Amino acid sequence: MGSASQFFSELADEAARALQQADDLGTGAPTVSVQFLESIEFKSSGGVDPTQRATVLQKFNTEIENCTLCRLHEGRNKFVFGVGNPSAQVMFVGEGPGRDEDMKGEPFVGRAGQLLDKILAAIKFDRKIVYICNVVKCRPPNNRDPQPDEMETCMPYLLRQIEIIQPKLICCLGRISAQALLKTSAPLGKLRGRFHDFQGAKLLVTYHPAALLRFPEYKRGTWEDVQMLRAEYDRMLGR
Ligand code: SF4
Repeated sequence: MGSASQFFSELADEAARALQQADDLGTGAPTVSVQFLESIEFKSSGGVDPTQRATVLQKFNTEIENCTLCRLHEGRNKFVFGVGNPSAQVMFVGEGPGRDEDMKGEPFVGRAGQLLDKILAAIKFDRKIVYICNVVKCRPPNNRDPQPDEMETCMPYLLRQIEIIQPKLICCLGRISAQALLKTSAPLGKLRGRFHDFQGAKLLVTYHPAALLRFPEYKRGTWEDVQMLRAEYDRMLGR
């Protein structure tokens, strides 16, 4: 196999061909094929040139926004790709869009999102500095948890986002995204409080903001977690 950049270039070419074909046939934007999904491999690549990340990320969004690979597309109002800095050092990953996110097409914009903004502000981050996304890009019905097969199907998209952005720190918001990325069934209590290795990045697990709305007693633990995250960020920057 050639280099990763060559590989992803071929991937982009396939998407472009599919778009052109759909245009020629007048069938509108194509859905993503299983073959296309299977062709996404995630190996240490040396990554995307930082000056190209915004473009590559936007192109990838366009390639997959009409995905119908799992049942979650059926109830989707808007595909929720992610938001933030394409070269973010810190990425926050939730489990999936809720009602407000599905309406707006942006992750973490409801009450839980407002709380996340406050948490970010408390550690001197904001949405323009970090990147925020979810494991699944379409809203599970009635805000149920994403099912394992749905997460497995959607996971290559998240991995590709990580591949493009190359965050140094990943903060999983809640048990579900943590278990999905770390491929573990360990409970959240066992995953918090330390950094895990994730493909060279440091991954920290904390509570989902929606859980904080229901269980305010989790706020103290969340504060400890995000302070740990901020301290590691500062350490990496030599502050
Ligand atoms: S949740 Fe992911 S895999 Fe399922 S339809 Fe949406 S984008 Fe495709």
